[in-house]
Amino acid sequence: MSEDIHKKAETLLATSRVEGISDSEREWLSSHLEACAKCHARAEAQERMLAALRSFPAAPAPAVVEATRRRVRARALELREQQSRRRGLWMACVLSWLFGAVSAPPLWFAFKWLGQRFDLPEPLWVMALVVYWIVPAVAGAAALAWRGSRNSQAEEVEANTSR
Ligand SMILES: [Zn+2]
Repeated sequence: MSEDIHKKAETLLATSRVEGISDSEREWLSSHLEACAKCHARAEAQERMLAALRSFPAAPAPAVVEATRRRVRARALELREQQSRRRGLWMACVLSWLFGAVSAPPLWFAFKWLGQRFDLPEPLWVMALVVYWIVPAVAGAAALAWRGSRNSQAEEVEANTSR
């Protein structure tokens, strides 16, 4: 057999694995593979190699694994920090509420006493009490809201730049 025929068989074999060949080409190839031990052996070797490649697990590169692990760890740390910050905020709210509840009666009596002492109309000292009692909480809440919106903006910027 001439070398051209083996070359044709090799080409057809490769083409049949990638894009497919016509029926007549397939017929020619199978009859050649039956007759030619050299091409038959080559076809079988290719088949074994492809099977081995297919069964080989696609393991990611160690660098990719390490980078992913680092990113996941950083995100977990970030979430934990956010959680503890939120817990601190809640604690501050509860403490402030408790302090408000505890301090309300003495404050009431103190303002009432001052109002009577300086002969002020009741609505005036009640108003003063309310302002004294509420303004710090409102200012604190406003400050927290402002800081919260600034933090989320900073996170947004950070997320955009790290992308
Ligand atoms: Zn051959």
